[in-house]
Amino acid sequence: MSNPLIDIANNNLNPQEREFENSIRPQAMDAFSGQPQLIENISIFIKAAKMRGEALDHILFHGPPGLGKTTLSRIVANEMGVQIKETSGPVIEKPSDLAGLLTSLEPNDVLFIDEIHRLSTVVEEYLYAAMEDYKIDIMIDSGPNARSIQINLNPFTLVGATTRSGLLTAPLLSRFGIKSRLEYYPASVLQKIIERSAQILDVKIDSSAAGEISRRSRGTPRIANGLLRRVRDFAQVLNDGQVDIGITQHALKALNVDEHGLDEMDNRILLAIIEKFKGGPVGISTIATAVGEESGTIEEVYEPFLIQEGFLQRTPRGREVTHKAYEHLGKKRDRGSLDNPELFR
Ligand code: ADP
Repeated sequence: MSNPLIDIANNNLNPQEREFENSIRPQAMDAFSGQPQLIENISIFIKAAKMRGEALDHILFHGPPGLGKTTLSRIVANEMGVQIKETSGPVIEKPSDLAGLLTSLEPNDVLFIDEIHRLSTVVEEYLYAAMEDYKIDIMIDSGPNARSIQINLNPFTLVGATTRSGLLTAPLLSRFGIKSRLEYYPASVLQKIIERSAQILDVKIDSSAAGEISRRSRGTPRIANGLLRRVRDFAQVLNDGQVDIGITQHALKALNVDEHGLDEMDNRILLAIIEKFKGGPVGISTIATAVGEESGTIEEVYEPFLIQEGFLQRTPRGREVTHKAYEHLGKKRDRGSLDNPELFR
């Protein structure tokens, strides 16, 4: 059975899952847990912009999927007391699509562009003047009568979200006054998020059960909430609706959820390094080919968690798995290949 977490982490949600997410999404800054430094800064920028009666600076939220980029963007609009229009990079095909969106914004509104690294080059270049001077050129007429006229836009805030900030061009990056990276959440914060979601959903959960889910959620609120939803089903059918540690462990086992919260791709990366490259060191592009994923995605989405949790190390010669990775996958290391004993202490 494949790991159910991979779709959750990748944002491939079906309509019910999306509705579920929206039902428990925090709407205000004080309902948003974790990321303390980021929240403190953004709150100050919002207050200052409101005091001046101006649009907030353009913001880029970057970091792995499911950590709260969309949630925060909506909270920013809420706290600013403005409307938000949401779209995503691949949806904006032509400059005219973007022009339609930009001209519909009221003063100080938020335009949220998810997956902003997937904007086409022409659309991206068109965005520059809009971000910088709140102006755009639009073409009217065609053929010999074609000419461009300049339109003034209302001041607005562009909030861009991306899992792959490495793919953004320097000119686009430089136009964001605020760039914030979202980090993985510690289990203690995820536990609070799970308990809050359970309360909204009217699920009875005890703290050891919430703690267990939090430790297996890959540092990611979306996964934590997704697991709560699945565990709730088991509790409803088998335990009178009560989510305790016993039913939680049973459910997580039945769902094949990794005890460290690693997802299928995490495990494939570790396994490939162990089985095909004797534990490393191996270059990121070679790993990428071995697991059939883009090297940038591995570097920006998977690797940070594996390093943070101590399964992987970056060395000048490439990536190496650690003793913890061998143990986790139940593999024996090939001592002949051992040229960095530090990793295996
Ligand atoms: P992203 O846009 O980074 O992929 P989302 O903002 O869509 O992630 O968040 C995914 C889910 O996780 C949402 O349902 C949201 O309710 C929840 N979530 C994310 N961050 C937090 C947080 N800090 N506190 C509470 N819930 C959160």
